[in-house]
Amino acid sequence: MPKQENILIIGAGLCGSLLALRLGQRGFNVRVIEMRQDLRKVDISAGRSINLAFSNRGLKAIKLVGLESKVASLCIPMHGRMIHDKEGNTFLSNYSGRKNESINSISRELLTALLLDEAEALDTVTIEFDKRCAKVDFENKVGYFENAVSGDTFKVSADLIFGTDGAGSSLRKSYYQERKFLFSFSQNYLTHGYKELTIPPTKSGDFNAFKNALHIWPRGDFMIIALPNLDGSFTVTLFLSYETGEYNFNNLTTPEIVTEFFQKEFPDALDLMPNLVAEFFENPTAPLGTVKCFPWHYKGNSILLGDAAHAIVPFYGQGMNASFEDVVEFDAFLNVHQGDWGATFKAFETHRKQDTDAIADLAIDNFHEMKAHIANPLFQEKRKIEMALEAEFPDDYYSKYSLVTFKETIGYNEAMTVGRAQDKAILSLLSAHKIDASENLNELLKKVQKETSEILREDTIAKTLDY
Ligand SMILES: Cc1cc2nc3c(=O)[nH]c(=O)nc-3n(C[C@H](O)[C@H](O)[C@H](O)COP(=O)(O)OP(=O)(O)OC[C@H]3O[C@@H](n4cnc5c(N)ncnc54)[C@H](O)[C@@H]3O)c2cc1C
Repeated sequence: MPKQENILIIGAGLCGSLLALRLGQRGFNVRVIEMRQDLRKVDISAGRSINLAFSNRGLKAIKLVGLESKVASLCIPMHGRMIHDKEGNTFLSNYSGRKNESINSISRELLTALLLDEAEALDTVTIEFDKRCAKVDFENKVGYFENAVSGDTFKVSADLIFGTDGAGSSLRKSYYQERKFLFSFSQNYLTHGYKELTIPPTKSGDFNAFKNALHIWPRGDFMIIALPNLDGSFTVTLFLSYETGEYNFNNLTTPEIVTEFFQKEFPDALDLMPNLVAEFFENPTAPLGTVKCFPWHYKGNSILLGDAAHAIVPFYGQGMNASFEDVVEFDAFLNVHQGDWGATFKAFETHRKQDTDAIADLAIDNFHEMKAHIANPLFQEKRKIEMALEAEFPDDYYSKYSLVTFKETIGYNEAMTVGRAQDKAILSLLSAHKIDASENLNELLKKVQKETSEILREDTIAKTLDY
């Protein structure tokens, strides 16, 4: 029987707890160390994306660990975007023209708690809380920790160290600071931050707005969105610039200005938010950033996964899904290079990096699409065409959104390349009045496919000339 290594996982968030469960299921000895308190025992969710959009790529990982039915009970399906204009009119724009394709709203806390419970139930996994990793000596495979309760410091040796400690990863910092190898790192912030607020349930516990949608109030340079929770509430997120525009986080400093802002821009939402002012000043404003780095691993000793390797802005609803997909892809490489950890790490990151770079870029694109373009008539015409094509040709046509969100059998990079070409094709055909939503769908599909292949062919030629 081959030796089952002792694995240290730093960080028991979504990625770390899923990874612990999977590696534990494979029989490795896993010790997970998390800096925060155990969220199953104390409420530590305030201000930190309370619910998340969970979709096919995440589900693929949940299936891998056998938790599909347990996770299903935590999900609220969202069939599309419910768009709210300033006059309070709403319209639903479905995510897909295919039947039964939707994304889900899921509680970060409940999902993480489930993964922790399942991982901890294995003989092979132990999880410790309140212990912060200060740094990692990845050359010698030792993590240095501080106990948040006693203040004691201690070190942990392992055969392998996984950094799943999120966007501010201690392992990534150690890679950067130790300068033992060529480690590239970038961190880019948006000019906008976010703040979480609430639409509470009605007195009888019902939803105050349509339950099965992701609600959006797009206002050009800023927006609010709302996702449903199992208790009948919605978690509302305001995305707003820190310093530009008439209203921004830096000048929303009094209850009167906050109320005026919501009254003017989101009057129908304001009616549903009795605690707006109190929450606005109690809840933190947090920045939004993209982290890219490479390589993710050091020899056969350590590796970064999830946000620690590739934190992205939340506008495609894919950060957790991508982090979960990391675990699926990593698991597959374990089968290829059995026991050779250096080769496993290298093959995984080489394969995976282009996909996480792609979703990082797509997420920035979607920031602009959500806050501004979805209210644009040309964009709406494009969506109408895409919905019709998906409904009529469910196997032959996937919009960019569907390729990213629902076609988990292809990587993000392929989804981005094909999806962007299709977008370009439909928009240019529409602008040139060469197609319209009412024409024969067979003809429409042919024209869109032809234009898309030409764009893809030109892109390929352009790439070969790139030097
Ligand atoms: C506003 C917002 C909305 C989002 N919406 C979506 C969405 O709709 N869909 C989606 O798929 N994704 C979404 N995301 C992204 C998603 O939250 C992340 O991609 C996901 O949480 C990544 O999981 P992770 O485990 O890698 O990192 P994290 O969830 O950040 O977990 C890291 C864990 O490591 C711990 N830790 C950190 N440092 C240390 C240390 N030094 N020592 C020990 N432990 C440590 C942390 O306490 C935490 O528990 C959103 C993010 C934000 C900010």
